[in-house]
Amino acid sequence: AERLFGGFRKTSERLSENLTGVVGTAKLDDATLDDVEDALIISDLGPAAAKRIRDKLAEKRFGLGITERELKEAVAEEIAAILRPVAKPLEITAFPRPQVILVIGVNGSGKTTTIAKLAHWLTEDDYGVMLAAGDTFRAAAIGQLATWAERVGVPIVKGPEGGDPASIVFDAVKEATATGIDALVVDTAGRLQNKRELMEELAKIRRVLGRLNPEAPHDVILVLDATNGQNALSQIEIFKEVAGVTGLVMTKLDGTARGGVLVAAAEQFGLPIHAIGVGEKLDDLRPFDPDLVARVIA
Ligand code: GDP
Repeated sequence: AERLFGGFRKTSERLSENLTGVVGTAKLDDATLDDVEDALIISDLGPAAAKRIRDKLAEKRFGLGITERELKEAVAEEIAAILRPVAKPLEITAFPRPQVILVIGVNGSGKTTTIAKLAHWLTEDDYGVMLAAGDTFRAAAIGQLATWAERVGVPIVKGPEGGDPASIVFDAVKEATATGIDALVVDTAGRLQNKRELMEELAKIRRVLGRLNPEAPHDVILVLDATNGQNALSQIEIFKEVAGVTGLVMTKLDGTARGGVLVAAAEQFGLPIHAIGVGEKLDDLRPFDPDLVARVIA
């Protein structure tokens, strides 16, 4: 909890600062509710979540006395209520194995690091993990992933730069199946600049996977950089359309005051949030605990 709190320090300070002084008459009146709603919006929780929290506070406490501390606690409770339904750890349940986990996201979002952290996490849980270097577009991507694979101690299937991602994924599934791997984590190119090519590339990967196992990919995890604030929300929108996202991981919550965007994403999309990134090291991927996060944010 300490390290998680450290992770959200800036987000928490921001919301706390924004909520300070909003309790005017010591009663929860319209003016106070307006100020709370504004404070939530400028803390990146988004207009929909802000409105929902406002309405809930009004419903439960309108006209009643409230201190600043009680207000913050009430806000935290409503944030938790929004986050709880989307908190869903990634579970390895596929039968037959391997569970195929596609990882998508724009370059720089923390995709490669998240794959490494996820591989580390699953390895610690005694799952057999393999990586597939499906981002063949970026010169450095294959090498970077290979370095992480070595560090984590998991096998990797890779091809040449510019190679066909679908054929690498094909090879990887065959090898993972032959060697009894539980989870195959597939890196993909994050080229949102060229939506059509990206869509075609992902569709081809899906086709090839589907031929080997109609259930695959079992997960399509979108990695988002919390630093991008509201921009992260438009990325969800686009990737949902091009890739059929099944869950989210939000990274870089340690360095940003924009962690409120997690709440906005939960409210707007209702997609499962599997984990959060709170640093650059292998063990800096945390399970998404909605109550803890709500408490540290507000
Ligand atoms: P990719 O281009 O999406 O594959 O992104 P990378 O995994 O290479 O990450 C980009 C940068 O963000 C690297 O410097 C990472 O160390 C850093 N990074 C990734 N996740 C986190 C995180 O949760 N917190 C912090 N502070 N940095 C992160």
